[in-house]
Amino acid sequence: MNYDVIIIGSGVTGAGIARELSKYKLKIAVLDKASELPSGASRANSSMIHGGFDDKPGTMKAKFCVPGNKMWHSLVKELDIDFNHCGSYVCAFNDDEVKHLEKLLEQGKINGVPGIEIVSGDKMREKEPNVSKDIVAALWSPEAGIINNFEAVNALIESAKINGAELFLETLVTGLLFDEKNNIRGVTTNKGEFLAPVVINAGGTHSGEISKWAGDTSFKIIPTKGEYLLLDRTTQGFIHSFLFSCPSKAGKGITVLQTAEGNLMSGPTATEQEDPEDRATTPEGLAEVLKGARRLVPDFPVRLNITTFAGVRANTESGDFEIKALKTPRGFVNVAGIKSPGFTSSPAIAAYVADLLKEELADRITLTPNEKFIPERKGIPRFLYLNMEEREELVKKDPAYAQIVCRCETVTEGQVLEAIRRGARTITAVKMMTRAGTGRCQGGFCCPRVAEILSRELNIPLDEITRHGGESKLLVGKTKEFLLNKGAE
Ligand SMILES: Cc1cc2nc3c(=O)[nH]c(=O)nc-3n(C[C@H](O)[C@H](O)[C@H](O)COP(=O)(O)OP(=O)(O)OC[C@H]3O[C@@H](n4cnc5c(N)ncnc54)[C@H](O)[C@@H]3O)c2cc1C
Repeated sequence: MNYDVIIIGSGVTGAGIARELSKYKLKIAVLDKASELPSGASRANSSMIHGGFDDKPGTMKAKFCVPGNKMWHSLVKELDIDFNHCGSYVCAFNDDEVKHLEKLLEQGKINGVPGIEIVSGDKMREKEPNVSKDIVAALWSPEAGIINNFEAVNALIESAKINGAELFLETLVTGLLFDEKNNIRGVTTNKGEFLAPVVINAGGTHSGEISKWAGDTSFKIIPTKGEYLLLDRTTQGFIHSFLFSCPSKAGKGITVLQTAEGNLMSGPTATEQEDPEDRATTPEGLAEVLKGARRLVPDFPVRLNITTFAGVRANTESGDFEIKALKTPRGFVNVAGIKSPGFTSSPAIAAYVADLLKEELADRITLTPNEKFIPERKGIPRFLYLNMEEREELVKKDPAYAQIVCRCETVTEGQVLEAIRRGARTITAVKMMTRAGTGRCQGGFCCPRVAEILSRELNIPLDEITRHGGESKLLVGKTKEFLLNKGAE
């Protein structure tokens, strides 16, 4: 377990850094306590690749958001990630809000956001006929887009793995190891010690406590929940762009968007809480989301809601990212408090971290370019999007692509098998990698089929298959007794 660098956390921050560092001849270990990717904030967010006008000039967020946006535009092609280059509007309903748009426009220009302009409400409605007639003006940002966040994190990690990095899931980091000079020597985990002269803390909402292990208490994470409503994919085309309200102190406000796959979605709220793992939705939170959605889109078709979910932001008191290499212990790097626009910023943060290692930790790690670096990665075929000829072609190569497993999202057995080949071990991992279970029935039909395929391919008894690792077994109690007895008959 000897490495050049250990990354704690395989969210978009850790995954992005792993991929960036795999451009160098380094032995990289990525450790995550979760059973599948993504698991933390990178799983449950608005998946917006922000334009970059919302961040105060001079902050780290402003420094990384605009270049991050630009980098994603090429990364989605290189790594075959679903992306909807839809642009965004910030909507103003009165004169005060119009003044706010003007401030955002100025800020955006300072931050270097390309193509932003203020348009009238009528101009906006030519493109978005379903938005409120009370919107008087809007800030248009053409380079914004919406990414498939499940695919993005898996693609970054796959790319890092293609280039030699190793991923260890279900590996909870429990502490740091120090040498006799009190510098970093590695980490302790539930699976033993991992040694490396450099440890990068990309632990999301847990990054504050991990930083404390290294003695840095200069910031505190304030877990802040954001709740969402997600509608059926038949709502595709109801709106086309990402719609923001005018931001307030609480954040960017309730938005309405169409996900990269075409579902209408609205959220998030912003509620501070103690527990970084509490992702329960609440009646009050969802009512707030619906109210905000209807303000922007009065006929928001909430009866087509198929699920609700929540994500937890790693907010900090400063409101900014906490990225630095500590002076002591040497070898410890914080990439902490990566709140919104963290997803957008992540490729630029990753490049910055590589520079940080070169400039500040050259005595501990040498970054020699890896001439064999392979930038491209091919995604799992998305059967739903293929035309008839492409489908026939695929089925000819592998008949498993003729077996539909998830009826709502037209996911085939071939895709599930490919996800397993790429490392999926749980039902949620298959969902993250193929979208099986994300549709209208929310896995009611495909979940048992996916469990059977996992059991067969991994040679694990069906009653050992889990939703998301640990004790989250699918077959328990009476269902298990019934099925096992039936099997015995
Ligand atoms: C509601 C909401 C909306 C958002 N909307 C947007 C948006 O539209 N656009 C945008 O750019 N950004 C958005 N963000 C921000 C974005 O999602 C985050 O900045 C980003 O996902 C943070 O990634 P991360 O890798 O730092 O953290 P995470 O994704 O939380 O990953 C941290 C990982 O560390 C692991 N971990 C933690 N502790 C340990 C340990 N001790 N041992 C092993 N593993 C550990 C966790 O399991 C987890 O996988 C939003 C966030 C939220 C919550």
